[in-house]
Amino acid sequence: MHQVASGGIDWKAIREDFPILRERAHGHPLIYFDSAATSQKPRAVLDALRNYYEHENANVHRGLHELSSRATEAYEKSRQQVANYLGAASADEIVFTRGTTESINLVAQAWGGKFLRDGDVVLLTEMEHHSNLVPWQLLAERTGAQLRFVPVCDDGTLALDRLSSLLTPEVKLFAFTHVSNSLGTINPVRELCEKARAVGALTLVDAAQSAGHMPINVRELGCDFLAFSGHKMCGPTGIGALYGRAEILDSIPPWHGGGEMIVSVTLEKSAFKKAPHRFEAGTPNIAGAIGLAAAIDYIESIGRAAIFEHDAQLAGYAMERLAELPGMRVLGPSAERGALVGFVMEAAHPHDLTTFADQYGLAMRGGHHCNQPLMRRFGLPGTTRASFYFYNTKGEIDRMIEILRDAVRFFS
Ligand SMILES: *Cc1c(COP(=O)(O)O)cnc(C)c1O
Repeated sequence: MHQVASGGIDWKAIREDFPILRERAHGHPLIYFDSAATSQKPRAVLDALRNYYEHENANVHRGLHELSSRATEAYEKSRQQVANYLGAASADEIVFTRGTTESINLVAQAWGGKFLRDGDVVLLTEMEHHSNLVPWQLLAERTGAQLRFVPVCDDGTLALDRLSSLLTPEVKLFAFTHVSNSLGTINPVRELCEKARAVGALTLVDAAQSAGHMPINVRELGCDFLAFSGHKMCGPTGIGALYGRAEILDSIPPWHGGGEMIVSVTLEKSAFKKAPHRFEAGTPNIAGAIGLAAAIDYIESIGRAAIFEHDAQLAGYAMERLAELPGMRVLGPSAERGALVGFVMEAAHPHDLTTFADQYGLAMRGGHHCNQPLMRRFGLPGTTRASFYFYNTKGEIDRMIEILRDAVRFFS
């Protein structure tokens, strides 16, 4: 559907699938370079949401009527699609959540609450999003567990030579991001999981920046948990998932109590369903799950390997062009990187620069990007981040460079 005669992909035609890309901002054609915060949504996803509400809307797992069967079937089919997308062994390994943040909180509260003791260690890295830091701080306060951090090198990669001294037998979980949302660093997930496994630690991968951008297979990566958000991969907001290896999910007690997650209830006590339903109390985000499945279908129709290559080319091209500008510092590795560039310019504070760009229809993000400890590590108040997706073009990057050049003149 997105192929051209030469066998390649018609990236221009793909833009037509995103109605919002025709918007104007401050009178200029919109250039959307903020997909790392949330991606835009293709018509296929918008249609799936509308179709659900027009033809299938009912509560799941409860009603003995036709619409409820349709809704339940669509909801559970979406779970299977997520499982296939991640290479999970079974749909029972997929818990629907509101997104990455909630998935990580589930593991911290339900798994951590049961299995972590005073003196145990959770290993994180210095480049974690606040979502993969604050839940562990809360847990540490509650249990007496300690947090440890893999340092980040000046080039934005993890200090892997420190790993053997950090990964001691006290470490019960190693939780780290797949792709850094500020630096663009792609971490060697498979190797990190293998090293953790060798000391008996479980692993959690924060795949918020990778799930929509590259092929992921949880069994090849060898992780125990993986968290992601639908809204960063063409899906709706308010839906995401936690993958958990079956035997581990089954060992974890519920975290939220309510309807849908029980087998029987008396006034004193309840018996709980098995995973994953045990973790989905209350009416779930049915439409969101269906929209997420549509997003997965859409992404797969293009191909994740092709998307990764396209985005990597854009990021590489942006690095090259940014280097032309005076007083420019780009953070993160210069070789392989995810679909974003974070930078600072001598001429202006990141906030001012980002606001200046907005006046020309260029949407970027300025600030600490939920990475305050990492910003402190680099001695910066924040950065300007341009993040890309498969609907962006080199032409838009050229326009970004023009706007930044104007900014240098304006601010100096
Ligand atoms: C966006 C992001 C999160 C949080 O995702 P939510 O959708 O806000 O829950 C966590 N980690 C990384 C690396 C992110 O980029």
